This record gives sequence, structure tokens and C-alpha cells, in this order.
Amino acid sequence: MSMLQGSCLCQAVRYALSSPPLFLNHCHCSLCRKLSGSAFGSFLHADGRGFRWLQGLALVRSYESSPGNWRAFCTRCGSLMPVLEDEGRHAIIPAGSLDDDPGLTPLVHIHCASKAPWYPLPEDGLPRFEAFPPPGFWPKASGGEA
Ligand SMILES: [Zn+2]
Ligand SMILES: [Zn+2]
Repeated sequence: MSMLQGSCLCQAVRYALSSPPLFLNHCHCSLCRKLSGSAFGSFLHADGRGFRWLQGLALVRSYESSPGNWRAFCTRCGSLMPVLEDEGRHAIIPAGSLDDDPGLTPLVHIHCASKAPWYPLPEDGLPRFEAFPPPGFWPKASGGEA
């Protein structure tokens, strides 16, 4: 397993992931749309114990977008940055911040009931859920919310 690296737009913040990625999801909820400024948010989920900041952590701040859900960003350039949940056991990484290929394709579209009216969902064969997937859907490690 090679190490994945990622960074923000201004390159001040850099991180690395040595644990294998679990899955990648597209979230169409209104929060992810606002946050990303785009049609949906794409997030890579992994065991957080393989995650580490390489530089720039002092520039990272977090915003609680809903109770218990934190979103991190670079205060210099505004790029979304990874968040650690479950006391560090679960890393949620904005896929667009990756500098390397995580080597897996997206698993699912979630919160499709909230999707942007101007964005037609692609015919990509992926499962789609109105909100969250049913219990047990996410690949195991430490579980995973959007
Ligand atoms: Zn930055
Ligand atoms: Zn979302």
C-alpha cells in the first residue's frame, strides 16, 4: 500500500494517509453543496489511524456544520481539509484535495433528495439513496457517515 498525499490549494496544508482507503462517496446534501460550492461533495473514508498532517495544521480551522459534524478548511485559501472522527479512528478526506490516485471508484450517491436542481445525476450505475444508505451498507472499519 503506497502512501496517499493531499494538500490545499495554497499548498500550506499537507497531509498523508498510509491506511487503505475504504470507500469514496458523493454526497448531494445541501451542506456539502454549500461547502464545496459545487453540485456535490466527494469524500474518501479511511481508517484515521493512518492519517497524519505533514504541515500547516495551525492554518486549519473547523466549522460545526450540524451538531457533531465538523468541516475543516485552510484559513489561507478556503480549501476543504480532512476531518478525523471517532477519536481519530475515522478519517473523512475531501477527495478533491488528494494529490494521488486513491485507486478506487466512487461507491454511491447519497442525499439525492437534496441534490441541486440544475445537476442531473449521471447514469453511472452507482446506487443512489434519497438520504443515508441503509444500516450495514458502508464497508467496515470504523463505520462511516457522510
Ligand atoms: Zn491553503
Ligand atoms: Zn453531505
